[in-house]
Amino acid sequence: MIHLIEEDCKLRIGGITDMSTIDWYGNVSLVVFFAGCNFRCPYCQNSSLIPLESGEVVDLSLLEERIDSNKKLIEAIVFTGGEPLLQLDSLLCAIKLSKDKGLKIMLDTNGSIQGSLENILSTGLIDRVALDVKAPLKKELMGKVTGRPEFAVKTISSINKCLNLCKELNISLEARTTIAPGLSDDPTFIGDIAETLKDRCSVYYLQQYDNQGDILDKTLKVKLPPSKETMLKLAKIAIEKGLKNVYIKTRSDGLEKVD
Ligand code: SF4
Repeated sequence: MIHLIEEDCKLRIGGITDMSTIDWYGNVSLVVFFAGCNFRCPYCQNSSLIPLESGEVVDLSLLEERIDSNKKLIEAIVFTGGEPLLQLDSLLCAIKLSKDKGLKIMLDTNGSIQGSLENILSTGLIDRVALDVKAPLKKELMGKVTGRPEFAVKTISSINKCLNLCKELNISLEARTTIAPGLSDDPTFIGDIAETLKDRCSVYYLQQYDNQGDILDKTLKVKLPPSKETMLKLAKIAIEKGLKNVYIKTRSDGLEKVD
């Protein structure tokens, strides 16, 4: 059962970006960064938002003010993090408010919290899911890339459920993998992910690891991002496995479709 706490609803957030064209391509969006994450991805650039007590607690009215002051310019809202589903009731309040304001809604999730995912997808309020598929759905690899081997089996099951549910409910789904050196840049690794995603996502983004910012694993921070050539090679593998609408995102050239 879902409870929408409309009075006295509070969100723990790391910040709000008033306008973005890159978080949901094709839409001008307001972006809300929920604080707290259950993963410890070595390449995390938002690592200051990982602790559950990070960020600041704000009233839902703050989000309403930000939506209202940007409403002529934005058409959508993106809830990202951290992991937004760790604050299910707060997220539901924010989603309902945004829907009432006429915005399209994208949920950006690491896909690991199955019960909350099922709850939120079944509301019918989500227009698009951006799902991290960080590794092939294999225990060892998923545990390594998420930094939480103890959750790997549950994460795999939850990601599978999310892919199936979005298809069943006709919710548009984009899948994303970060390509980091020595961690997720192996052709077989990407080939395995692509096999899992075939016919289950509308778009697949390969994101180049970026060593700028507050990287969680300091040994990774000193490594260079994968070359554009590597990114293209991996994208072509995904296409060979049958994925359509495959894009790479690099620091030098932004977003590019690969054919
Ligand atoms: S990169 Fe990993 S640890 Fe960082 S916010 Fe995303 S899911 Fe959490």
